[in-house]
Amino acid sequence: MDSVPKTCKAAVLVEYGKPLEIHEVEIPEIGPGAILVKVLLAGICGTDVHQQKGELTIKSPLPNLQGHETIGQIVKLGEGRVKDAAGEPLAVGDRIMWAHADCGECYWCNIARDPVLCARRSGYGWAPPSALRGGFAEYEYVTPATNVVKVPEELTEEEAVGVGCAFRSVMAGYERLGRIGLMEDVVIQGSGPIGLYSTVVARESGARKVIVVGAPRNRLELAERWGADYVIDIEEMPSAEDRRQRILELTEGRGPLNVVEATGVPIAFAEGLEFIQKGGKYLILGQTSAATVPIMPSRINEKALTIVGSVSAHIVHFYKALQFVKTHRHKYPFAAIVSGHYQLEEVNEALANMAAGREIKPVIDNRGR
Ligand SMILES: [Zn+2]
Ligand SMILES: [Zn+2]
Repeated sequence: MDSVPKTCKAAVLVEYGKPLEIHEVEIPEIGPGAILVKVLLAGICGTDVHQQKGELTIKSPLPNLQGHETIGQIVKLGEGRVKDAAGEPLAVGDRIMWAHADCGECYWCNIARDPVLCARRSGYGWAPPSALRGGFAEYEYVTPATNVVKVPEELTEEEAVGVGCAFRSVMAGYERLGRIGLMEDVVIQGSGPIGLYSTVVARESGARKVIVVGAPRNRLELAERWGADYVIDIEEMPSAEDRRQRILELTEGRGPLNVVEATGVPIAFAEGLEFIQKGGKYLILGQTSAATVPIMPSRINEKALTIVGSVSAHIVHFYKALQFVKTHRHKYPFAAIVSGHYQLEEVNEALANMAAGREIKPVIDNRGR
C-alpha cells in the first residue's frame, strides 16, 4: 500500500540572490481531490534562474519553493480523484503532469473563456514551502483544483519533461497563431527549449523552410535534428543586418510568412519586424522582461502584419504536447533536450550552469532516491 512520509527534503529560496537551502518540510494532508506525487524529474527553467536572482517582474513572497515543470509519480490519491483531464483512470504509481490551477470563478475563466489569463491562478513554483507546490523537492502536492494528465506509458521521463513548460507553451502559442500553411517559410528566433519545440512543430505543420536563429552551437545542432533546414548562429553572425540579409536570401527576398519569437530578448522583437514578409504573422512567446526597446510601429500596418502573443498554457496543451511526443518519438530525439541530471542537493550548481548557458534543459533527478 502507499506509504506517505511525514516530511521530505525541499530546496527553498530563502533570500533573492542567495543559494537555495535544503530544508525538511512537512507534507500536507491529502484531502479529497488532492494528489501527492513523488517528484521523478523536475525541469529547471530560465525563469527559475531569474526568479532565484529576484529579476522577475512579479516577486513572490519569501521563502518560496521553485520548480514548475515536474513529472510526478502518484503516491496518494485523495478521495474522489479517479480520472485525469482526458478521462483516463488514475492509480497510485501512474506518472502525471499538471497545469496551474485556474479559479473557475472569474471573468477570464467564464466570460472570456480563456483560463490561461485567470487573474487568480494558483500556480506551481512560487508558493511557500509549506504548500509543497514546487518541483525542487522530493514530493509535491497537487491541489484538488488542478487538472492533471497521465504521461503516456511508452515515453521516458526525459522525452516528456520538456512538455511541462516549453512545449505546452508552444502548443498554446501555435493554437493562438492559427495554421501554418503548407510550404510557408518559418523563422524561429531563439534556440532554447521554446525555440526547439517551435521548430519541430513548424516542421510537422508542413512548412517549406524552417530557419532557426540562435546560439550556442549545441542548441543549433539539436534544432537541426528537430527539423530545422537552416540555422543562423548569432555568435558567428552578430550583426542583425547580416542576419536579415541571410534570411531574405533564403526566402526569395520576401522574408518568411511566419516568425516565432522565442528569445526572451526584447530587441529580438524589433529585429523580427524587419525581416517578416508583408502580410506575415508574428508569434511572440519568449518575452518576460520589463525592458523597453525602440521599434518602428509603421512596419506593422504598412506590412499588414498580424502579431499574436501567448503565455503559458492550459491542460489541453499539455495533453496535445504529450501526444505529439508520443506520435513523433521515433522521428525526433526528444530526450536529447535534457542536457544534465542533478541531485536535489546540486540544484544551485544546476542553476549556475543554466545561467551560464552551459545547459539546454537541466533536470533534478529524484529517481534514485
Ligand atoms: Zn519553465
Ligand atoms: Zn479565474
